[in-house]
Amino acid sequence: MLALRSLSKRYDTPAGTFFALREVSLDVMPGELALIVGQSGSGKSTLLNVIAGIERPTSGEVWVGDTLVPSLSESAMALWRGRNVGIVFQFFQLLPTLTALENVMLPMDFCATWPRRERRSRGMALLERLGVADQAMKVPSTLSGGQQQRVAIARALANNPAVILADEPTGNLDSRNASLIYELFAGLVGDGQTVVMVTHDPVAVRIATRVIQIADGQVELQRETVNA
Ligand code: ADP
Repeated sequence: MLALRSLSKRYDTPAGTFFALREVSLDVMPGELALIVGQSGSGKSTLLNVIAGIERPTSGEVWVGDTLVPSLSESAMALWRGRNVGIVFQFFQLLPTLTALENVMLPMDFCATWPRRERRSRGMALLERLGVADQAMKVPSTLSGGQQQRVAIARALANNPAVILADEPTGNLDSRNASLIYELFAGLVGDGQTVVMVTHDPVAVRIATRVIQIADGQVELQRETVNA
């Protein structure tokens, strides 16, 4: 489902050439949650950005399903990303002036993935699935952090993406809310979703099927967990 082949990302800076990723090869299948761990500066965010097509690799391949992501043009990329990648951020990134429901409907509007008349009911169904349907008509600032992240996950699922990328999704939550978010991710993975999650939280191993340790832009260690 997600395949990385000899992926490298080089930055040319005034201080010299620097490889943020070196020859990274990985496969993540549906129903897998790959946890990416590593020290700050090891290349984790770069990896997510290259998978999402936000940054282009210097060399190597990124396949999401049948799409060779770096081959897409800039304009095709945004639409492809909206339809195929759900992104969950540390600070939720909900639009503050829209209600929770409108935030979830936004990707469907942007990509015209569902007929207009179905978007509201699909948005409600997603909020229901994430346990926050009662918050649908509220703006994000009136929700707790945990509720905001549930809405953000509902939004990430809006277009039924091939892959969900989560960058420190519990980094701004207390441990109780973090556990609830992990349970939700575990449920998605159980339903066959492909998830790649970057985190510093050792508790996240509980829901991972695989742990991939990155150091200096390289895969240093890769191991399956008991969930595999
Ligand atoms: P992590 O997410 O693991 O903290 P990053 O992927 O953000 O690591 O960064 C990996 C390395 O690449 C870091 O050393 C960072 O300084 C460098 N880097 C990231 N973006 C750029 C850029 N635009 N230009 C130059 N160097 C960059």
